[in-house]
Amino acid sequence: MRRNLLILPLVGLLGACIGSQPPPAPQRESARPSQSSRAYSRPSPAFGQCLSELSAQHAAFQPLDDKYFAKGCSTVNTVRLSSLASDTASLGLTNLGPVTCTVATGFAGWARFGVDRAAEQILGSGIARIETFGSYNCRNVAGTAKRSGHATANAIDVSAFVLADGRRVSVLNDWDAGSRAEKRFLRVVHESACKRFGMVLGPDYNAAHANHFHLEATGGSYCR
Ligand SMILES: [Zn+2]
Repeated sequence: MRRNLLILPLVGLLGACIGSQPPPAPQRESARPSQSSRAYSRPSPAFGQCLSELSAQHAAFQPLDDKYFAKGCSTVNTVRLSSLASDTASLGLTNLGPVTCTVATGFAGWARFGVDRAAEQILGSGIARIETFGSYNCRNVAGTAKRSGHATANAIDVSAFVLADGRRVSVLNDWDAGSRAEKRFLRVVHESACKRFGMVLGPDYNAAHANHFHLEATGGSYCR
């Protein structure tokens, strides 16, 4: 298991990779000298505490410098996750850009205790990788003037799970049409996400979520 906590100055890490959604508008960093010219500085106490928790979860990650983009869009107190840990293995991640540390710790706990163990029990194999459609994306909630949780890197769109035995279970293909066990697995992991994230949206929410679970750290509790 890797346990990396790298404190490095970071440049230009902006992973807007929301596959099924409109591409993000071109973004330019605002000219805030205090933000754009400084090297990585000591994290706030709350962020530092969160980084310690994430490290204790055996995640491999890099803390990112705070950045401000268009109005309502920023990556503050974020990390770049390169892998997570299950009980026995390192879990790969695909397409994931910056995520807030709060989302990262919830995601790490869910991956290990919610997803990997459910895969073992229901499908007979742990997971090797979680595929996503990304995290940070400067955009509004579809059809509204309100910024999405993605605009502050506070949400992850999870699209599929690759098992250690090579099988791949995707939200799009298997939520309705998978085997009985695959369908049960997806519902169990959706349900367990609701215990760790304030907002979880999946295929039963609307057609826009037919191919992913939206996991967002909020103070609320909305699960559908
Ligand atoms: Zn989303």
